[in-house]
Amino acid sequence: DHQTSSPTYLFRSKLPDIEIPDHLSLPRYCLERAHELADKPCLLSVKPGKRSYSYAEVHLLARRVATGLTKMGVEKGETIMLILPNSVEFVLVFLGAAMRGAIVTTCNPFYTTGEIDKQLSGSGAKLIVTQVACAEKVSSIIATRSEVRMILVDCAEAAQSGRAEEKDTCTTHLHISELMDADEAGFSEVEVTGEDVVALPYSSGTTGLPKGVMLTHKGLVTSIAQQVDGENPNLWLREDDVVLCVLPMFHIYSLSIVLASLRVGAAIAILPKFEIGTLLDVVQREKVTVAPLVPPIVLALAKSPLLPSFDLSSIRILMSGAAPLGRDLEEAFRARIPHAIIAQGYGMTEAGSVLSMSLAFAKNPFPVKAGSCGTIIRNTVVKIIDPDTGISLPHNKPGEICIKGNQIMKGYINDSISTDNTIDADGFLHTGDIGVIDDDEELFIVDRVKEIIKFKGFQVPPAELESILVNHPSIADAACVPQKDELAGEVPVAFVVLADNVDITEDEIKEFVAKQVVFYKKLHKVHFIKKIPKSPSGKILRKELRKAVESGSMEI
Ligand code: AMP
Repeated sequence: DHQTSSPTYLFRSKLPDIEIPDHLSLPRYCLERAHELADKPCLLSVKPGKRSYSYAEVHLLARRVATGLTKMGVEKGETIMLILPNSVEFVLVFLGAAMRGAIVTTCNPFYTTGEIDKQLSGSGAKLIVTQVACAEKVSSIIATRSEVRMILVDCAEAAQSGRAEEKDTCTTHLHISELMDADEAGFSEVEVTGEDVVALPYSSGTTGLPKGVMLTHKGLVTSIAQQVDGENPNLWLREDDVVLCVLPMFHIYSLSIVLASLRVGAAIAILPKFEIGTLLDVVQREKVTVAPLVPPIVLALAKSPLLPSFDLSSIRILMSGAAPLGRDLEEAFRARIPHAIIAQGYGMTEAGSVLSMSLAFAKNPFPVKAGSCGTIIRNTVVKIIDPDTGISLPHNKPGEICIKGNQIMKGYINDSISTDNTIDADGFLHTGDIGVIDDDEELFIVDRVKEIIKFKGFQVPPAELESILVNHPSIADAACVPQKDELAGEVPVAFVVLADNVDITEDEIKEFVAKQVVFYKKLHKVHFIKKIPKSPSGKILRKELRKAVESGSMEI
């Protein structure tokens, strides 16, 4: 009842709202100008021996993929799983699948069989597009699922490599050429509505296990438009940009930048993995103008002795997101690349994904304070609420950031309870982040109330580690929390209660977990305690555990 009696403070962008096209599917919206741009470079593959693709080629190949998928019997609304590093194929299959009206769920190629298996079951994907290096892993998962097919994207390279094992793998599985070589002559794009889901990235949100986040055509079109459309063409990306794509496309931060780059007609320089020398080389060679990064890469660049040997003068914007960028690091980095604008964006998969970003590079730039995540994007409203009472708070008062707009997720797949716990009755998505908006409408993230641990911007859901730990016969109970770390931002640490009369070491527990998870979910420390502190309703009191980790005193 407090909500009716107290005022609601709503925050908006400093820029006016824009017209957002609501009649276009995501691929049509992104490639609306592909004919006009025709020969303009679109996807620049920086892998040796790989060629680059123009806008006309990308458009054509995506249509072929869509045709090939149709021929394979992929239906509208069906889910396709991509297990790929950044590559031209990733982009083409994503666009082709979207043109077919299919849904793409994206998965980290470094995931273990257990992690892939869970996402495969949850998403209901029947077709997996992956690479030779993952073929064995994926084969073992689908061995018992006759309905799931696998397509490999790099058999042409495998044939050239001469490695017999890889060639064998390729003779027994479908190749991407079956899609790419399809005759697109009779192709017609499937009609979709804005409410149809197009992407299904996984995120644990504010609590629990990873869940499929349903992002619709309308949602992603809105999010991209909020970033690059309208009367402010100098917002963030433009046609003459060369955008660095080193962050993994399976994460929405990078995927949405790819889509926004296509929309504006920029060139995208695709790097399959982060390696500092290669990154600097690509920036110099391709004259990269916009570099979206995460704080650990900013840190590596700020410290790298290689920096002065490269010409980085082409860079106009360095964007940091996915985790907090410390004020000191931001300033240290600015000193090393003084000609570039260093900006922060704040995103969350469920928010579809950008909530706020710096406007330091707008046509009429707004100055931005160090440490700020910029201002709220257009065509949306934000409220800041007291996390305990739910009361709406005014400027300068920290509280939970909640956002409402067409760009937020439709919900979690097959999980209406989690959806209802995340999106309230008024349509606001609760982020689990604590932020404050100052008098200049700048947003600062100051804390997090949700349980997620972020290692170099990657999600480490504590509930996932806890479910693995309690599966061990010697472990009676467990809880995982973040520990601050200079390099990674945060690392996961565990509190473990042992079963009676057992003997197991910290290293054995670490090893037990490490075998089942991708590298960034590995435990960095195991604390043995007598009892996990819990509320009367059985919820783990994570705050107490976090405090214990921070203070180094394990008296819980
Ligand atoms: P994800 O869904 O993996 O993108 O994770 C979203 C979460 O990452 C947010 O809810 C924040 O907790 C965190 N995050 C993203 N961007 C920032 C930022 N610029 N500063 C601080 N935290 C951030």
